[in-house]
Amino acid sequence: MEHDDPLHFDTLAVRGGQHRTNEGEHSEPVFTTSSYVFSSAAEAAARFAGDAPGNIYSRFTNPTVRTFEERLAALEGGERCVATASGMAAILSTCLGLLQAGDHIVSSRAIFGSTVVLFDKYLSRFGIQVSYVDLSDISAWERAIRPQTRLLFLETPSNPLTEIADIAELAELAHRHGAWLAVDNCFCTPALQRPLALGADLVIHSATKYIDGQGRCVGGAVVGPQDLVGEGVYGLIRTAGPSMSPFNAWVFLKGLETLRLRMAAHCANARELARWLEARPEVRRVYYPGLESHPQHELARRQQDDFGGIVAFELAGGREAAWRLIDATRVFSITANLGDAKSTITHPASTTHGRMSPEARAAAGIGEGLIRLSVGLEAVEDLKADLARGLETR
Ligand SMILES: *Cc1c(COP(=O)(O)O)cnc(C)c1O
Repeated sequence: MEHDDPLHFDTLAVRGGQHRTNEGEHSEPVFTTSSYVFSSAAEAAARFAGDAPGNIYSRFTNPTVRTFEERLAALEGGERCVATASGMAAILSTCLGLLQAGDHIVSSRAIFGSTVVLFDKYLSRFGIQVSYVDLSDISAWERAIRPQTRLLFLETPSNPLTEIADIAELAELAHRHGAWLAVDNCFCTPALQRPLALGADLVIHSATKYIDGQGRCVGGAVVGPQDLVGEGVYGLIRTAGPSMSPFNAWVFLKGLETLRLRMAAHCANARELARWLEARPEVRRVYYPGLESHPQHELARRQQDDFGGIVAFELAGGREAAWRLIDATRVFSITANLGDAKSTITHPASTTHGRMSPEARAAAGIGEGLIRLSVGLEAVEDLKADLARGLETR
């Protein structure tokens, strides 16, 4: 979109990145094509040589994918976005595109399980080492930095305990040591938190979650400056091939149009449920950044526009009580997915964190009585009634 004044988030969400074709379509089309034709041999040669702009092949570029990329870049306030086949492909492509053997990553311990496996089992084979630290312990981050450290990596709020990292402080630390800060912004989305404006270098997304928002497609993205994302990460993706499909890009770009409205509704429902749970005698503790009892409530208030749709709580009765509550629900879906219009309920200790040793789990604060909710868009009274049924079967 061409415009003189900077447009607001809500305008960019519905119009950013649209390049209307000469058919005059109002809604963005899906370009389901793997390749593109050239008007002449000379034009083909110029495109292949990089001397003329234009599409060659959908592993490199596709107009629907480009619309999604431009729209998400605008919402995150980034120079460039590249879309990927999944959130994990975004993390892999960032590491392979920007790092080399001998480099070192400092990462929060509280990150998505597959990211830990990617770091420990696979990147380690190629000579990239990772040290883990507690998300909110800034001195631990500093102590873990080595001369070889190139990347600091985190998610905030963390999963499932909703711990918050101070992005501006960690960006300053990273830059003082010549490293980049990458933030997996999956839980907040740009509707609630814009890490680049706080100093982060890279934003990573699993679009599978709130950007789709209705549990239909798997995809991801990396956003940041042209030199890192447009050259380093994109160069890897166009060569190695974890590109986003045009159809998925279309679902995600339409998802961005309603993202802020959906996030506001997720947040309102989550806040209401968190307060209600906190008042229940069966509940030992509620983890939600929007509660005054959250240890980083003030930081969350400063750094985020709202507190998100993920709520965790610890039941007094351990695993037995947790499973009983989960099995008594009729509205919540028992699944580990999150960021869906449909509310989901998970027992982290036996699913997402089930492969950790009991000691490591205890150290991470994942108790046997812990339950994680991804609060959806249903009527909150129905969600309360659904949980009350399980709480009352004691
Ligand atoms: C789901 C998730 C990922 C991985 O995304 P996929 O799209 O499943 O590959 C990465 N980070 C976070 C925080 C996630 O929740």
